[in-house]
Amino acid sequence: MLKDETINRVLKFRDDRDWRQFHTPKDLAISMNLEAAELLEIFQWSGGDLECREKLGRLREELADVLSYCILMADVCGLDLDKIMNDKITKNEAKYPVEKARGNAAKYTELD
Ligand SMILES: [Mg+2]
Repeated sequence: MLKDETINRVLKFRDDRDWRQFHTPKDLAISMNLEAAELLEIFQWSGGDLECREKLGRLREELADVLSYCILMADVCGLDLDKIMNDKITKNEAKYPVEKARGNAAKYTELD
């Protein structure tokens, strides 16, 4: 679970370096996607090996990078991460009702 203390530490890291001035939503979105690409790169050419076990070191780093940019984006845009996550889960619960989606990887538009 991500604690408020951790979120504040990410923001303090930014503020101590006076980097807020560089953090436009556009540049944060670009950075977030670059970090997501670094996470994806961990699995590049891995064939059928999709296990995390041997990749945990790099996975931890890149997942933290992506999450840091999510925190920074939410802060810059004035969004409450807990609220937007709960709002999205509520939407997804409606789109993917358990009785239709359980054990089914189909997109919600294909569920019947
Ligand atoms: Mg990275």
